[in-house]
Amino acid sequence: MPLHLPALTQVLGACPHDCPDTCSMLTTVQNGVAIKVQGNPAHLHTAGSLCTKVSRYTERTYHPERILRPLKRVGPKGSGQFEPVSWDAALTDIASRLQVIAERDPQAILPYSYAGTMGLVQGESMAARFFNKLGASHLERTICAAAGGEGLVHTLGGKLGMRVEFFEQARLILIWGSNSVASNLHFWRYANAAKRAGAKLICIDPRKSETADKCHAHIALLPGTDGALALALMHELVQNDWLDHDYLDRHTLGWDKLRERALQWPPERAAAVCGITSQEIRDLARDYGACAWRPESDANQGSAAIRMNYGLQRVHGGGNAVRLIACLPALIGAWRHRAGGVLLSSSGTFPVQKAALQRPDLLAGRMPRTINMVTIGNDLMRLSSPEFGPAVEAVIVYNSNPVAVAPESAKVVRGFAREDLFTVVLEHFQTDTADYADYILPATTQLEHWDVHSAYGHTDALLNRPAIAPQGEAKPNAQIFRELAARMGLTEPCFQDSDEALCRQAYGDEVDFEELLANGFVTLKTPEAPFAQGHFPTPSGKCEFFSERLAQRGLDGLPDHVPNHEAVHTSKAYPLAMISPPARNFLNSTFVNVKSLRDIEGEPLLEIHPVDAVMRGIANGDIVKVFNTRGTHSCRARVSERARPGVVNGLGVWWRKLGLDGTNVNQLTSQKLTDLGHGPTFYDCLVEVQRV
Ligand code: SF4
Repeated sequence: MPLHLPALTQVLGACPHDCPDTCSMLTTVQNGVAIKVQGNPAHLHTAGSLCTKVSRYTERTYHPERILRPLKRVGPKGSGQFEPVSWDAALTDIASRLQVIAERDPQAILPYSYAGTMGLVQGESMAARFFNKLGASHLERTICAAAGGEGLVHTLGGKLGMRVEFFEQARLILIWGSNSVASNLHFWRYANAAKRAGAKLICIDPRKSETADKCHAHIALLPGTDGALALALMHELVQNDWLDHDYLDRHTLGWDKLRERALQWPPERAAAVCGITSQEIRDLARDYGACAWRPESDANQGSAAIRMNYGLQRVHGGGNAVRLIACLPALIGAWRHRAGGVLLSSSGTFPVQKAALQRPDLLAGRMPRTINMVTIGNDLMRLSSPEFGPAVEAVIVYNSNPVAVAPESAKVVRGFAREDLFTVVLEHFQTDTADYADYILPATTQLEHWDVHSAYGHTDALLNRPAIAPQGEAKPNAQIFRELAARMGLTEPCFQDSDEALCRQAYGDEVDFEELLANGFVTLKTPEAPFAQGHFPTPSGKCEFFSERLAQRGLDGLPDHVPNHEAVHTSKAYPLAMISPPARNFLNSTFVNVKSLRDIEGEPLLEIHPVDAVMRGIANGDIVKVFNTRGTHSCRARVSERARPGVVNGLGVWWRKLGLDGTNVNQLTSQKLTDLGHGPTFYDCLVEVQRV
């Protein structure tokens, strides 16, 4: 559908990517062509700048390899051989094949999607309605944030925390498990301003990241030991009475029990577990304790703020680690300050009208089985059984690239290679997953469709308007599901809702849609210091050190350090721990095919500490093989102190087919799950490395 815009105009949008910053974008359009994408200067958090990745968004949108017509497989699965077909032919065939399966058992149909777009409309709106009406399997969408999210819910009562702009006023900032310079750039701007004003910044991360370079101190703990560090900090806060007793008495639950547990973690014990010195722990505790609230202190002075990110919870004990860290601000009364507390995610702030968008009522009382997206490698190979239900016969993939991003990818590939599996992929490009599709359906990019966004790193709702007409024959995801619904005879009026109508439904009356249309964003009304007077949205109304809800599930009501499934020093054959943080110019597996960004990254890299490299005869630039019982992945070694001894950093997430040997780091990661939230354990992975 052509858009009727003046010859030169600017269109307000929102960055759709899985990043806490959710920037407000301005797209300059000349005669129907997007010529520039930039940050909206009127939006406080974006402040007129986008990251390098999204600044190249026009390159991605007009990429010569963009899929612009529906494609049908003509070669063996995975061969990547397709021929163009009409939309009519593609949708008619897909609908009839799904119909046959749905008549037998709709649970044999599996949607597979995540945050390829964070949009509420092109994500789970019309798609969810479609799968709910069919009665398809539910997908447990846990691949990123589930463990930490559940940790927050059981401690603070929701995915809530400090307002990001107040980090600027903190005196101490702990950047815990986050390479903010690369993946939370607009938070970094606030942290940097605080630094200029005299704040101390401490980075806690196994990798000496670009963020660690810019902080005053860096604590390079072993992966999966963050909970032990938090317990030792509590030990020191108790021993030195750096506590806000009044806040503990009035606004927390279970302090006596947590205190007792923390006293079992002197710095020496935690130092041995974390692979750091006890002095580092004491120094950190002293800095944090110095910000403990005193009745005479000014409300905005001396506050300690913690910015966590999701990296630290991608290990067995990720949920408990987040619980422990989220407890810390209550010990010192940091929540009393607007510039104190913790922020992992603000997504619980948004009044998203999920039921209106997704229409669970269309299930009409059915309770389809749930499949976890993390274990897709196993589940695609499972046969029908009373416990599992029917074998998966069809997968519809949108906003995700599981062959590249799901763990233990040899098994994921084997599953998607099943000749009897009917696979439809909605995509912009022929990704690793699209290679295994029976049909690839061309989806629009963010510049070509409507959407509404929430955020997890700030508290502004955003609207995305289409800036240009859909390229080629591409259609928005919502439109594709609308047309599939029509072909399958789904006649409920909700399948007629336009994308603009869905945008209006996303927040209903809770957010002024006219303001969204006019400005592109609306700042939610949230308190400056949300827990200054307690009022945590937990069952007790307090910060729950002890969770009765977890205890009732037979779990430990108190948070604890939970060791990795694959802890260091537990395997002679695989003595190195591997984490796989994102390469700076990629965002999950998005942007790997944008040549200018791939050129910066070069090729898949493994950072290895000089000591570990020398032991293995590895020189900088050597090709190495990284291996464990799950597989082997070849890449180039970068001998660097960005890696700490005993830990290697496999920078991800490359497309397999663009790697050296047709694999990526997920060849090595496991499908084991976290302690809470059924999340993945990508950073809980032992390997060995050899020079090739
Ligand atoms: S990826 Fe993040 S920093 Fe980059 S434009 Fe999008 S929201 Fe902003």
